[in-house]
Amino acid sequence: VFITLEGGDGTGKTTQSELLAAWLGEQGRQVVRTREPGGTDVGVEVREIVLHHRGDIAPRAEALLYAADRAHHIATLVRPALERGDVVIQDRYIDSSVAYQGAGRVLDPEAVRGLSEWATEGLQPDLTVLLDLDAASARARLDSARTRYDRLEAEASEFHDRVREAYLALAGREPERFLVLDASAPVDEIQAQIRARISSLV
Ligand code: C5P
Ligand code: MG
Repeated sequence: VFITLEGGDGTGKTTQSELLAAWLGEQGRQVVRTREPGGTDVGVEVREIVLHHRGDIAPRAEALLYAADRAHHIATLVRPALERGDVVIQDRYIDSSVAYQGAGRVLDPEAVRGLSEWATEGLQPDLTVLLDLDAASARARLDSARTRYDRLEAEASEFHDRVREAYLALAGREPERFLVLDASAPVDEIQAQIRARISSLV
């Protein structure tokens, strides 16, 4: 079972995926928790470039770097885990690229999606949890949690507004794959809703 968490920076993806992994583990499931970018050794190097390179990266080059991270991650870590029957809980996947490189960097979203589908040989999540939060609240959370921003977090609020709208549009197009939750709700409430939905999958 392949579960992805999506949403802007500061919406609580990592917190929710940790809680979810712990709960599934208690039930005796083998769980692999991972993330993009940076879920493999190659990915750690790509992550350093896309998040901390000093200076601009051409939007298409940035999109290709995320796709390269994804290709290696899916081929070497995620597909083998799914083939073993493990549950994979992953922070960010193709929807992140459609939202950030597509709507954020203003590349053709279908081209961005096509690139990732080629990179992953079409692997789709069974469930995608979208943690939805307005950009101002997300920014406030980041401001209290960060001493330094990565290249994307440092983008203006218009960028993050476009990302949020793109995510909601994606969820609207595939309501059966997406579970959209209000990320301003208490952590435990959000987790309970995720568990309720996942019970039917695992
Ligand atoms: O979620 P995490 O903090 O690990 O993501 C790292 C950064 O990469 C975030 O600032 C996110 O906005 C950005 N990102 C992106 N495009 C992707 C995946 C992540 O811009 N496809
Ligand atoms: Mg982040």
